[in-house]
Amino acid sequence: MSNESPLKIIISGAKGRMGQAVKECAEADPENFEVAAGIDVGEKLEDVIAQADAVIDFSAPEALHTTVRLCVENGKRLVVGTTGHDEKQLKAARSGANNIGIVMAPNFSVGVNTLFWMTQKAAEILGEDYDLEVIEMHHHHKKDAPSGTARRLGEILAKARGLDYDTQTAHGREGLIGARPKDEIGMHSLRGGDVVGDHTVIYATNGERVELSHKASSRDAFAKGALRAAQWLGDRPNGLYDMQDVLGLR
Ligand code: NAD
Repeated sequence: MSNESPLKIIISGAKGRMGQAVKECAEADPENFEVAAGIDVGEKLEDVIAQADAVIDFSAPEALHTTVRLCVENGKRLVVGTTGHDEKQLKAARSGANNIGIVMAPNFSVGVNTLFWMTQKAAEILGEDYDLEVIEMHHHHKKDAPSGTARRLGEILAKARGLDYDTQTAHGREGLIGARPKDEIGMHSLRGGDVVGDHTVIYATNGERVELSHKASSRDAFAKGALRAAQWLGDRPNGLYDMQDVLGLR
């Protein structure tokens, strides 16, 4: 609940699945949010950006550079939900965050951010005897693999175990590849149907295994988290934040 006027947002990727969910969740909470505009392919953010306090981006990785530049030029806060960015695109966000507040998260749901926290704790408690595997499943439209959330889970595991995510992960397995190395994180992406997003982290050792799972059944959890992040940015110094910061889970 806010005593101030509603936060005016622009949705980039407005016609997409997440763009629609953000619009619906914002319109269901008129006291706090007003959808000033939505843009999609063929429409220009620069034509509408003056109307908003914040831009919420669920579009495509290649849009990030322009979106960050326009937010910086116009002094608008930015929430990035899009996943699958390369290093060059991420660099644009890091440098833009010197001038504006940006929240960028592979997953805006409170449940998944709790899973991130639990994944780290379990890895620390269980230690080196446990083999680490991450499984994710998403709908058949999803373009990037592994999902941004699975990648983040893999990075959390790698950090907790002193491994290098880029060189010590196995993305699926095939053929006569020999026994599983101890210092490896297995990453597995399943695609099919209308699955909104399932993630499981497995810690397996001789005699037992632990599985931590999150299953999303609607996009509203992501949309509401992104709106909450846009609101939270209002009081923050410029910088690049993620959902762990928004939820105070650091
Ligand atoms: P989608 O394909 O349904 O929607 C993407 C929309 O963006 C489409 O309408 C497309 O036309 C539009 N678009 C593409 N390029 C654009 C551009 N340059 N400018 C403006 N619009 C553009 O996809 P989706 O399922 O809504 O997912 C969108 C992104 O959000 C994906 O990267 C997905 O992985 C990510 N995602 C993140 C979270 C999270 O919590 N962070 C949750 C779900 C999905």
